[in-house]
Amino acid sequence: MAAMHLEDNVVNRQLRPDEPKYKLWHSAGLMLTYWCSSRCACCYVFSGPEAGHGETEMSIDFAAECWRELSRLAGPRAKIHLTGGEPFGDFDRLEQILQRGCEENPGTLEKIETNAYWCDGENSTRDILGRLKAAGLTKLQISTDIYHQEYVPMERVRLCARLAEEILGRENVQIRWQDFFADPVLVGQISEADKRKAFQDTLQKRGERLLGRAAVELAGLFPLRPYRDFAEINCAKNMIASQHVHIDGGGHVFPGTCIGIIISNLLVPKRLRLDELWRNFDYRQHRIMARLAEAGPCGLLDEAIKRGYRPLPGYAGKCHLCFDIRRFLYQTGDYGNELGPGICYGHMENN
Ligand code: SF4
Repeated sequence: MAAMHLEDNVVNRQLRPDEPKYKLWHSAGLMLTYWCSSRCACCYVFSGPEAGHGETEMSIDFAAECWRELSRLAGPRAKIHLTGGEPFGDFDRLEQILQRGCEENPGTLEKIETNAYWCDGENSTRDILGRLKAAGLTKLQISTDIYHQEYVPMERVRLCARLAEEILGRENVQIRWQDFFADPVLVGQISEADKRKAFQDTLQKRGERLLGRAAVELAGLFPLRPYRDFAEINCAKNMIASQHVHIDGGGHVFPGTCIGIIISNLLVPKRLRLDELWRNFDYRQHRIMARLAEAGPCGLLDEAIKRGYRPLPGYAGKCHLCFDIRRFLYQTGDYGNELGPGICYGHMENN
């Protein structure tokens, strides 16, 4: 597999040798769906049982093409993970995508991520894991934390972990997070006030990226700071150097984990190959990414205020500030090619 080189990108060709280059994407998360069995407070989009089933569901062919195009772009460094939402919601599709991707691009699968909601019986779980192993699964990541366990019984996570370790090998099962798995804190039956306190204790130990539902539900549990406190921060690392993208079924390509910022769309208005997108992408022409790379989320404020945005009294962090401004700008309708789709900002239509 031949990979592209940094100088193949249109911006990099124009830069002096000492200037930072737009990094090559070698890892991609394919978001097969926005549907999820749960509605976790930590979700960085607005996944849930009502989401999905629309234009943002990823087809088998499109997933296989993206997988191939990443391999063309990154060569032997290419790594794909399959995620959602919750990718086990449509198991046949997941299995077929996995099989095609692994057959056509050997050695490029990083992992599949799941919340283990589907592990409701020993035989069925064993059967599903066995089928995935036969299709090429090498590593499974199981999400387990205070937020996921509001919805998914802990026994399902334990069953999934035990059988996955047996079938795939212990070293091929990633439990995220191991400390919670060993000593879970369950908030399903407790009062709202106690739940809030438990979330707060958890957030002190481990922060969350406050985008999507997490920005809405968790930001208020942090000490809030005025936007001026974030004025010196830029996001050049996330916008230029992340080497990682997420792609959803609607064709939207997002930089790293900054979901909701659309680099471009691979399907609309016409099919665009991922490797060609990277080759021709000039982040300096992208109204959102250029400002974020240069001046961080405060760089978006002038445009937002001009359109009627009123800053909040405080923000929990730079990503909370970024999300709040972006959500406002998305709602103006003036950034349709650069911000979206709606489900990243709490709008459920067509998702
Ligand atoms: S502030 Fe915005 S661009 Fe920067 S890392 Fe957070 S979400 Fe990404």
